[in-house]
Amino acid sequence: MMLKIVIIGPAGSGKGTMSDLIEDNYPAKHISSGSMFREEIRKNTPLGQQANSYISQGKLVPDDVTVALVKSRLSQDDCKDGYLLDGFPRSLVQAKAIEDLGINVVINLMVEEHLLVDRIVYRRLCENCKAIYNIKLNPLEDEEHCERCGGKLYQRSDDTYEKLMVRLESYAEETQPVVDYYRKKGIVYDVDAGQSVEDVYKQIDEILTKIMEEKSN
Ligand code: AMP
Repeated sequence: MMLKIVIIGPAGSGKGTMSDLIEDNYPAKHISSGSMFREEIRKNTPLGQQANSYISQGKLVPDDVTVALVKSRLSQDDCKDGYLLDGFPRSLVQAKAIEDLGINVVINLMVEEHLLVDRIVYRRLCENCKAIYNIKLNPLEDEEHCERCGGKLYQRSDDTYEKLMVRLESYAEETQPVVDYYRKKGIVYDVDAGQSVEDVYKQIDEILTKIMEEKSN
């Protein structure tokens, strides 16, 4: 079976971290709408400039722009054996716009709000390989450089307490309905994402292993 996964959860729930682990172990190309936007911003393209005006405030980029970006990415060759959508769809309009893709697994990362602040405010990303760190929860010897590739670490401009609050509000209002929409289709798998990276991934691995076994029988 071709995996067409959506990983969904509020900011700081671990979507990026879990997506990297899933991609390493399953045939599913990790597609992150947020990373694609950050790349456009870095290159200072017209799309990047447009997206930045929303992202820098913690708001969602308009649906038409986002859907077009993700759909065109999914048509590329490296997505033909399966994919994992991280941070998309984030609204009902987006979910309905990709109805035709036939998403078959939705991993719902559930976490209590009070855990999210430290995860976001102390988050650092590698400029080069995009690895994700947390300098409070998992202290680094060198807070400036990536342990894997030596690249420079940076903080996302939307990773502040104030912007996190805006992002959580937008999650409750616009993204929670997407979870309900997929739940009605019977494809949502709830995960307790308040635990360690290892323990959260263990739950996901069990879910995906079971799905792969069932479908191949
Ligand atoms: P993320 O890296 O997934 O946390 O996304 C960072 C930011 O990019 C979000 O806070 C939004 O401003 C924007 N963004 C990412 N994905 C979407 C989406 N599917 N729809 C609208 N905006 C998005």
